[in-house]
Amino acid sequence: MTTIRLHNTKTRTKEVFAPIDPDNVRMYVCGPTVYDRAHLGNARPVVVFDVLYRLLREVYGADHVTYVRNFTDVDDKINARAKDSGREIGEITAETTQWFLDDMGALGALEPDHMPRATAYIPQMIAMIETLIEGGHAYEAEGHVLFSVDSWREGYGKLSGRSVDDMIAGARVEVAPYKRDPMDFVLWKPSSDDLPGWESPWGRGRPGWHIECSAMAYELLGESFDIHGGGNDLMFPHHENEIAQSCCAHPEGDFARVWMHNEMLQVEGKKMSKSLGNFFTVHDLLEQGVPGEVIRFVFLSTHYRKPMDWTEAKAREAEAVLRKWRALTAGIEPAASAAPAVIAALADDLNAAGAIAELHRLASEGDAAVLLASARMLGLLTTELGAWAETGSLDLSTYEARLAAAREAAIASKDFAEVDRLKAGYVAAGLEVRMSKAGVELVPGPGFDADKLEAV
Ligand SMILES: [Zn+2]
Repeated sequence: MTTIRLHNTKTRTKEVFAPIDPDNVRMYVCGPTVYDRAHLGNARPVVVFDVLYRLLREVYGADHVTYVRNFTDVDDKINARAKDSGREIGEITAETTQWFLDDMGALGALEPDHMPRATAYIPQMIAMIETLIEGGHAYEAEGHVLFSVDSWREGYGKLSGRSVDDMIAGARVEVAPYKRDPMDFVLWKPSSDDLPGWESPWGRGRPGWHIECSAMAYELLGESFDIHGGGNDLMFPHHENEIAQSCCAHPEGDFARVWMHNEMLQVEGKKMSKSLGNFFTVHDLLEQGVPGEVIRFVFLSTHYRKPMDWTEAKAREAEAVLRKWRALTAGIEPAASAAPAVIAALADDLNAAGAIAELHRLASEGDAAVLLASARMLGLLTTELGAWAETGSLDLSTYEARLAAAREAAIASKDFAEVDRLKAGYVAAGLEVRMSKAGVELVPGPGFDADKLEAV
């Protein structure tokens, strides 16, 4: 069996992965808070852990892996969005959840086995909070329940490598009168009548964010499971708090054994931010005609533990490569298995960039069947993601001839309306229009859309 090595944030080393139960390898990844479109950075962990999911399924068997990714559908950001827009919370979360699934599907991400919504697990969260209170790890104050960080000083901060004292000194933590200690964090908080709330032993209220992952992971994966993933922006405080809650509520378990964190995403070398004007969603890119497969390819070209720089140049290059590989593998049956070197690269702490280098080698050797099987290990060159590249059956020369004829007529009549209309239609369909004395040439650019062209 392939030996998988994964970098464990907890030990800061690359370790041989040995699942608790090879018949049921279990992975949890923190999912989105559903109040808006996923931005490009949100998509990175989805693609990274999708590749890990595919690798685990390859090595342990598709029926022997359980992947859970949650939806946070109770959150103050959602409440604020509902208030600002005058829309129902349920309407916003349902719509945004579907947007997320559609956008991630467009990137070729397989759906996890379980996608629990936080609001469906409120009783489990209340039960866990009660256990924490009984164990002396949490306390009630003014309708709130808080986790007492001091009650688990020996364990808190290990994942992110901070001591509680350093955190208190360095952190800008919210100081609330009901907190015994500034580091304590909310497990439950009271809800006024206009906010979502559930009956609890502490009055009507709603859960804090961190407790949902602990409660849902316990419910769906048990007190010990194999892998917990997420972006490294979640390491502190979210993951640290998940560990504290789960290990104190279920000291018989280890919670997650391997912690994996992907690095952040930048755009053209800069941090993506609304103020810099380089903030965009996955949906924005898809709408601009950047194929989901291209986004996926660009993501996978950088190791997940390195900052990923999204650039237009990379997207153009990825598109050209994928177009070439799709042409090379058109009508070919994939080989029975991926190239061993591709699997080996992925098994080495998800070295997808190394796997892509192998794909280039296979392509240059013309080994189309193995290239296809290997690319599919990374979720590339799949049938589902291929629609964008289907230009082969379409003969652009007909459209070139039509524009050339219109231009000839326009020169005679001095009426260029039809020429302008055709050009605008071709450009809108994603074609670059090159007109010279020699004639007309149409070149498919990023986001070429054959349907749109046919409608011109
Ligand atoms: Zn989480």
